[in-house]
Amino acid sequence: MTNKKTDRRDHTYRENNHKEEQTGRNAGPTQFSELAVKPEITKAVARMGFEEMTPIQAKAIPPQLEGLDVVGQAQTGTGKTAAFGIPILQKVDPKLRKPQAIVLCPTRELAIQVADEIRKLGKYLSSIKILPIYGGQDISKQIRSLKAGVQVIVGTPGRVMDHLRRKTIRCDHIHTVVLDEADEMLDMGFREDIETILSDIDTDRQTLLFSATMPRPILDLTRIYQKDPVVIKVVRKELTVPNITQYYYEVRPKNKGEVLSRLLDFYAPKLSIVFCNTKRAVDELTTELQNRGYFAEGLHGDMKQTMRDRVMNRFRNGRTDILVATDVAARGIDVDNVDAVFNYDLPQDEEYYVHRIGRTGRAGKDGMAFSFVVGKEVYKLKDIRRYCKAKIKVRPIPSLNDVRETRVEKIFEKVDARIQNEDMDRYIDMVDRFVNEQDYTAMDVAAALLADILGNAEGEEIHERNRDDLFGDTGAAEEGMVRLFINIGKKLGIRPGDILGAIAGETGISGRLVGAIDMYDKYTFVEVPREIAADVLEAMKNVKIKGKSVNVEPANQK
Ligand code: ADP
Ligand code: MG
Repeated sequence: MTNKKTDRRDHTYRENNHKEEQTGRNAGPTQFSELAVKPEITKAVARMGFEEMTPIQAKAIPPQLEGLDVVGQAQTGTGKTAAFGIPILQKVDPKLRKPQAIVLCPTRELAIQVADEIRKLGKYLSSIKILPIYGGQDISKQIRSLKAGVQVIVGTPGRVMDHLRRKTIRCDHIHTVVLDEADEMLDMGFREDIETILSDIDTDRQTLLFSATMPRPILDLTRIYQKDPVVIKVVRKELTVPNITQYYYEVRPKNKGEVLSRLLDFYAPKLSIVFCNTKRAVDELTTELQNRGYFAEGLHGDMKQTMRDRVMNRFRNGRTDILVATDVAARGIDVDNVDAVFNYDLPQDEEYYVHRIGRTGRAGKDGMAFSFVVGKEVYKLKDIRRYCKAKIKVRPIPSLNDVRETRVEKIFEKVDARIQNEDMDRYIDMVDRFVNEQDYTAMDVAAALLADILGNAEGEEIHERNRDDLFGDTGAAEEGMVRLFINIGKKLGIRPGDILGAIAGETGISGRLVGAIDMYDKYTFVEVPREIAADVLEAMKNVKIKGKSVNVEPANQK
């Protein structure tokens, strides 16, 4: 092994060497002022209010400045944009009015966000132009902007490829290519586009890859397209987020909406993000919340970009209080001041849990994270707990009484503020007149007004623990499971995966909750947790598997 290689290995950080890191071995710079970059950049960073580098920045910036390829893994919100943005700004030649760096991002929203961040970092560097380009935007307009002499392009893979083909972006001077949120780009099916772009730009380029997770396909890309990359991993370090209060609730799927409403009313977060595992669940829950009178909007990958932008803007400026989203749609999106995160569906992946709840409790503020757990998902929650060493405590669902009390408290807080700050004379006159005319006391009137504000939004009490058993004994092999009969089988070329996929897809539950699947020629038995059996039946009512309508019912005992 050459010296150089050993050197590079030193940049790799893992959980088990935090101590070393802290005692200073390998300690690189931690202050922006220690970086060998133009003073304009350090000035901008200071203006942005950054005190010191985040770990990924401290580890990833120096090797990039040396011209090395870098793979950087760090969770969402750890400042990966500046980690590649600063070296790009340092390397770009302002006098050369040609594209010199390309950053690939998975979505338009992210491209805009990343371009904005780099622009802020480059605020004091005159004549460096940064342009976001993405699908859905008028291409001739983009071409005009590109002609004006752009040095840094931040774009979605499809659109960048398009411009490369049209030669409206030329590669001759491109020295840096960044794959930002690489895992998400692969999830979204951009692999081919990315490979085409990387093969097109075959000059002596520096290739940088940033991602929150490092699944196999990313490592493959790394091997093919990077030269001896420096691998930096600062994932587990900030895994537990101490200022986030984490609770979970055992809820039946059909009660999730009601429980969510209660928690929203009880804790009254200003901005919340509610995570669902499927696009369909996002749509359904959004509608349900809207029907219940909340300012909620959904965000998922099937929505048009313009729509997504609009939703995000309304959420950012507080016109929407509740964002209902899938992981992919919400990943990388950066909104501060989120007070609460709800895992309406428990995330598929333990790491996602950390990403999700990391949306709250930012910038030293307190945050809350609430997870809904259905039946055997408790085991998954245990895995999550172990993985992120978090204290996730079980909580009883607030009763209607609890909810009412907090609502009353909130109302009285407002009343208090009004009495303190506003002139009440006019209203006192009105009340006075009414009291005298009707022979009521002021107390009667206040009570009636309160009742009026509280309304009669009284739901049913939920008794999660006393579930009546609708299914009886269906002959399930596993305890706590219900055996369902499905009227299709092997003869139709259907495999267990199809059944599993249909159930998981339709109900939004994890496939892992589905138990034994026994397939026969013409029918199939599948076991599902008792708690969700009714929902599975309901969800499967109008479903087709491989084009076949199916009928699902509880199996007979034998
Ligand atoms: P990531 O890409 O890792 O998800 P971002 O680059 O979007 O993270 O950064 C998240 C937020 O942190 C942004 O608001 C960014 O301005 C801010 N930020 C970045 N670096 C620092 C720093 N060193 N100190 C404080 N805030 C930072
Ligand atoms: Mg990012």
